[in-house]
Amino acid sequence: MSKQLAREEIEKLLKLSKTEKDEKLSRRYVELALKIAKRNQVKIGNRRFCKKCLSIYIPGKTVKIRKTKNALVYECKCGSVKKFIVE
Ligand SMILES: [Zn+2]
Repeated sequence: MSKQLAREEIEKLLKLSKTEKDEKLSRRYVELALKIAKRNQVKIGNRRFCKKCLSIYIPGKTVKIRKTKNALVYECKCGSVKKFIVE
């Protein structure tokens, strides 16, 4: 699989994950996307899903996003909190 193709597959899976109502299945899509990313050495932006529970980030639904002075704080529904520094 070429990197370009891998990226397209990953995007497809993440989109599916976002629209999937079944949480288990939704996480499964993220898992698959991660596998493809690893195998093809492609990066998935780390603000797209929770690394702990593999839930796709949907603002207001699976994740709460707070803004602080210099960071975005993502609080997943599983309780995992991630800070992303913004410049
Ligand atoms: Zn989580």
